[in-house]
Amino acid sequence: MRASAFSRKDVITVNDAIYYFPRRYEDRRRICSPIDLAAFPDGSQVTVLARIENLREVPLRGRKQKLLELTAMGEKADLLSCTWFHVYKGMKEKLPIGSWAIFTGAIKKYRGTSQITHPDVEILKEKPDAKLTESLFGKSLHWGRITPIYSRSDKLSQKLIREVINTSLEQGLPLVEEILPAPLRKKYDLLEIRSALQEMHFPKKIAPLTEALTTENLHPAVRRLIFEEFFKFQLVLLMDRSQMKQEPAQAFHIRGSLFPKMRKNLPYTLTHAQERAIADVLKDLQKEVAMNRIVQGDVGSGKTMVALFALAEAAENNLQGALMAPTEILAEQHYANALKLFAGTEVTIGFLTGSLSRAEKVAAQEKIQNGEWKIVIGTHALIQEAVNWKNLAFVVIDEQHRFGVRQRTFLKEKSLPGKAPHILTMTATPIPRSLALTIFGELAVSSIDELPPGRQEIITKVLRGKDRDRLYGLIRKEAEAGRQSYIVYPLVSDSDKEGMERLKSAESEFERLQSTHLAGLRLALVHGQMKSEERNEVMRAFKEKKYDVLISTTVIEVGVDVPNATVMAIENSERFGLSQLHQLRGRVGRGEHKSYCVMVTDSPPPGMIRKTESLEEGIDDESPWTRLLILEKSRDGFAIAEEDLKIRGPGDFFGTKQSGSPSFRLADLSRDARLLEIARQEAQDIYQNDPKLEKPENMGLKKFFHTVMEEASVTLKSG
Ligand code: ADP
Ligand code: MG
Repeated sequence: MRASAFSRKDVITVNDAIYYFPRRYEDRRRICSPIDLAAFPDGSQVTVLARIENLREVPLRGRKQKLLELTAMGEKADLLSCTWFHVYKGMKEKLPIGSWAIFTGAIKKYRGTSQITHPDVEILKEKPDAKLTESLFGKSLHWGRITPIYSRSDKLSQKLIREVINTSLEQGLPLVEEILPAPLRKKYDLLEIRSALQEMHFPKKIAPLTEALTTENLHPAVRRLIFEEFFKFQLVLLMDRSQMKQEPAQAFHIRGSLFPKMRKNLPYTLTHAQERAIADVLKDLQKEVAMNRIVQGDVGSGKTMVALFALAEAAENNLQGALMAPTEILAEQHYANALKLFAGTEVTIGFLTGSLSRAEKVAAQEKIQNGEWKIVIGTHALIQEAVNWKNLAFVVIDEQHRFGVRQRTFLKEKSLPGKAPHILTMTATPIPRSLALTIFGELAVSSIDELPPGRQEIITKVLRGKDRDRLYGLIRKEAEAGRQSYIVYPLVSDSDKEGMERLKSAESEFERLQSTHLAGLRLALVHGQMKSEERNEVMRAFKEKKYDVLISTTVIEVGVDVPNATVMAIENSERFGLSQLHQLRGRVGRGEHKSYCVMVTDSPPPGMIRKTESLEEGIDDESPWTRLLILEKSRDGFAIAEEDLKIRGPGDFFGTKQSGSPSFRLADLSRDARLLEIARQEAQDIYQNDPKLEKPENMGLKKFFHTVMEEASVTLKSG
């Protein structure tokens, strides 16, 4: 049960425990007697040694509960009073009268006596000797030192976490290997890894983390660890980039003769941002090296048009272009848009997905092979084994921001002999500016930083679980007005896995809502475990307004366009990343109607979290609300991605979430930009002077890379 309670916070192995850093620290070095407390202002955190004199249960007026009052006395008959507002069974037995104990907490003075409410108590086995502070200092993990305070899940006390971590350090530290080469550590005065980790948990002099840090006053342990994070990150990038060298490609002659007709077919004019992105892409297409560009733009910014205008040039050049969507529905949508856009032109447009009938597929493959189709829209089926292209020269990949080296190699085989296709990726998960500079130095980025005019406001609210009725009311009201709603759940079906028991699932909520709160409305269910045909069927019917409410998992995250949908509700919203929530929100507000995004969470809002009423310390005041409220305030995908990056690290942007991939636990990209720059230079240096990491001082690094690369290739194969 302990291990599993830990795993909820993602701490599982000894190594994980070692890297489970404290959230803050309390200075408990000074051990006071009650008499000393007069000198501290109310609210100070104090650590007090005293003997338990008396325990008293006091009934609370008009309530069933009682409170527990404890009186303790110091050497000089000086008094400390402690109070608990809940008394649980066996609590008094844990506080034997006459024993010496250490009390920790915030003091308050009341009628001349110092009081602590809900102190942390540790009973001592024996009476400490006269030279108090010295005899106690460093003896306990919990006081007489700078004490770490961890984020905790509800089953674990701070004491237990400290003990587990201390044991992990004892067992695990000797096995932790130094990665940073010794000369580098010397040059920048960086702590050795084992001391840095030990200091993070049980610092000797000053606490590693304080408010308002700047790069200059970072604790040596933190500085060392941040440096390592940056350094690994930069090296992984360098290694990766080296595989992505520039490749020869077919240069296009840009004529743009189709554009006037296409513009006429549009019921609107393109935004400046769209025009700029198109111009960027056309410029790349004229080159003899393969384009490697990413178009990023918020949901609804109109990326599809950028892709289709660029693809027109493939047709003009008598070459082939492909538009690859992540789902069938999206592919169908793009196809329908393309047919309208190219109406009245000569351009032949094809469609291929996995769910076509065998005969249709064969027919499609033939038109791809003989070059009859110039622009083909579909899913990954477009680049499957059986599909041979006549002269594929340009591929647009929708809703993906990273296209792996292997996938590129594969595409190359589909392209013209000896040439790589131009590749354009499009994503609605913007890459934070701070990251773009360092990561995508060589990848060209076009940003569509402007939404088409006249977009509807989306009213965004975080909603407490107990107020769900308001959500159901809203959904009903919208349904009566002919509008539609989505409700998104984190799970397909209920799970009793640790940490998931309390999460809601699409299947069971679908059953429940149908017969309770949303009875009488037309509900549909869609999730990733359904067959894709079934799923498409439901989505299509929803689009055709045959349902009022779509109960779903995040399968609808990507690209679906139902302008009549006005409510996006997300359950257990604290479970989702900010960018993901932003994506989901982008599913509404696409038509002429006012729309709503409701993020439901059962976690208490900030300021509502009470200290646990027990002998254990431990407030966890990290409320997910703080994160969620960012979405209430911002509709700017860039700002949101930037926040997400701070909270979750760059793993998501990398597409490498597996362990060993770089993640920033401590680094703050804006605060530590200077350190990042140094790390980058040093990484480049090492990469140039010892690309295979063969020098003895780089052995640690070499080992690290072996692990990372192996894991990466395993996930690529299995993915
Ligand atoms: P994205 O893929 O960037 O999320 P889409 O390409 O799906 O966005 O476009 C979203 C919606 O906006 C579509 O309904 C599209 O027809 C419309 N749209 C695109 N460009 C414009 C524009 N310049 N003016 C008005 N509406 C536009
Ligand atoms: Mg799109």
